[in-house]
Amino acid sequence: MPNYNLFLLPGDGIGPEIMAEAERIIDWLSGRGDVRFECSHGLVGGAAYDAHGVAISEDDMARALAADAVIFGAVGGPKWDDVPYDARPEAGLLRLRKDLKLFANLRPAICYPALAEASSLRRELVEGLDIMIVRELTGGVYFGEPKEIVDLGNGQKRGIDTQVYDTYEIERIARVAFDLARVRRGKVISSEKRNVMKSGVLWHEVVSDVHQAEYSDVTLEHMLADNCGMQLVRNPKQFDVIVTDNLFGDMLSDVAAMLTGSLGMLPSASLGETDAGGKRKALYEPVHGSAPDIAGQGKANPIAMIGSLTMALRYSFNMSAEADLLDTAIANVLGRGLRTADIMQDGKTLVSTHEMGDAILAELDLLTE
Ligand code: NAD
Repeated sequence: MPNYNLFLLPGDGIGPEIMAEAERIIDWLSGRGDVRFECSHGLVGGAAYDAHGVAISEDDMARALAADAVIFGAVGGPKWDDVPYDARPEAGLLRLRKDLKLFANLRPAICYPALAEASSLRRELVEGLDIMIVRELTGGVYFGEPKEIVDLGNGQKRGIDTQVYDTYEIERIARVAFDLARVRRGKVISSEKRNVMKSGVLWHEVVSDVHQAEYSDVTLEHMLADNCGMQLVRNPKQFDVIVTDNLFGDMLSDVAAMLTGSLGMLPSASLGETDAGGKRKALYEPVHGSAPDIAGQGKANPIAMIGSLTMALRYSFNMSAEADLLDTAIANVLGRGLRTADIMQDGKTLVSTHEMGDAILAELDLLTE
């Protein structure tokens, strides 16, 4: 029986509450007897700062590096607004992304039929929507040098950020997108601004080369990033996989997120390179933050966290049947009208974080009887 080692980092705010529900699902999966998940727990963000004075300890970093997958809750909150910059809660997540070399960020935007009314777009535009945005996460303008504010000495200052991409960075993120498209609906849209940016010209060229050399069975289209933002709102169901750089990915994935209704529904995966043994470092986390406004009240929606676990089953453990099962359980529970406060609608049943976990577990039992 395969034995996998999960490192759980619940973090701050609602992180521990939603992680507790994900852990019950992990136990359920282990209880089926086909696979065994060994979970260990660490501290990140404000919780780590309170215990160790840093956003993640070296010990926990080492455990994250050794794990088969890291499952991450959320970090931050007003309590830590004034801690030193290097120890701020987000520094823990950034350190994990950097040391695990997580260059590919996968953000699905799925609209469950039961929640189509929660979108800001009309039901027919979003019902059944299933987009995967693949964002390059470790390069581009957020990291390029020089990155500085220069005093020009004449009462003026100059702010500089540098957009840089090397061929290998574009090749590896393109391969992630094409591989995903092969097991989805076979279409990749690559998005950049080649009309005004040299990095966009190179992006277009490299993605086209990888496509021609290795993935001619997949359909590739190119779309300027501003048009892509517009098309996401105009006709989102035309998309299958979108691959784009760090900056445009940041924006386009947030646009896509809002098509689906609530932040509490959105999972994500961040993946590193595949090693010689076929394994890759990976971190799975909900898109939302630590929601300090509702922390400790049993109001948090655990579905983004549980959906992140589903992504771990799919992308780290090759357990797509179990991932599909979990997705079906979530869709059925929503179909039965159960809602946490963030997705509550007239005539539906309001449930707590824990009750939503209960309902998903009961549905899993029902589906596997
Ligand atoms: P947030 O995502 O925490 O919350 C935004 C709004 O969405 C809030 O009203 C919150 O109650 C609601 N919300 C979020 N997740 C929810 C869920 N699962 N169920 C129900 N409602 C949910 O963003 P914010 O308020 O801008 O930030 C709060 C803190 O989180 C800040 O310290 C911020 O830095 C941090 N943050 C962390 C991450 C991360 O850990 N990856 C991401 C974003 C923000």
